[in-house]
Amino acid sequence: MLTAALSAGQGTAIRFEVPDEPGLVAVEATWRGRSVPLVKDGNWSTVLGIDLDDAVGEHAVDLEYSYRDGSGTSRTVDIEVLSREFPTTRLEVAPKYVELSEENQARTAREREEINAIYARVSSEPLWHEPFAVPIPGATGGRNFGHRRVFNEQPRAPHSGADLTAATGAPIQASNRGRVVLAKELFFSGNAVFLDHGLGIYSVYLHLSEIGVEPGQLVERGDVIGRAGATGRVTGPHLHWGFRVQGARVDPFSLLDVGS
Ligand SMILES: [Zn+2]
Repeated sequence: MLTAALSAGQGTAIRFEVPDEPGLVAVEATWRGRSVPLVKDGNWSTVLGIDLDDAVGEHAVDLEYSYRDGSGTSRTVDIEVLSREFPTTRLEVAPKYVELSEENQARTAREREEINAIYARVSSEPLWHEPFAVPIPGATGGRNFGHRRVFNEQPRAPHSGADLTAATGAPIQASNRGRVVLAKELFFSGNAVFLDHGLGIYSVYLHLSEIGVEPGQLVERGDVIGRAGATGRVTGPHLHWGFRVQGARVDPFSLLDVGS
């Protein structure tokens, strides 16, 4: 028996679960072209990401079950992706972030490649054991995920995170336990910290005035990993808090509901 049909909106992360069975030793999902393990904790579960531009309708999660006696079986569970409307925001930024010099075009292409290589990896162990949290406790704002953006009258990629109101210097906490996989200055993102939480879940903290961690470091939920600022393509100081889940751009607030 499988779980009832699941549905979720574009740009959200969801808990995906299947019941345990006698002799079952592993369940592996294929989702967004990646292999994602399910973890046993009573039932078998993982977290899956639905990109804000994923097509509305049924999407198959292919599952491989492995049993103690060496046998295996394949199953499919559908997730119904529901439409979400995202408004358009118009922004004015320094012209160098819209009309890129050749040097900056080359730089952003290199950075995009480096970042995509990070998001392509799915670490098999979940590193977190508590629910995900907002990186600035009690912060306001952040309801602009998925907004279609027009910079200086030119359409650009939709907003892939939540912008939290924060003064320069405000401490930024890790949303959950994870490993630092990037901690440096990027052209659009300014000073940036990326955390790998396992199972293809990455959180990002952008436009920092200060970076407080180094690549390879394991951080606990709530550890201060940097300070808010206004570096990169911004209109003022704030924290851009983002998540990628198996490469999907998801609303960070949807991670708060996936459990621990
Ligand atoms: Zn932002």
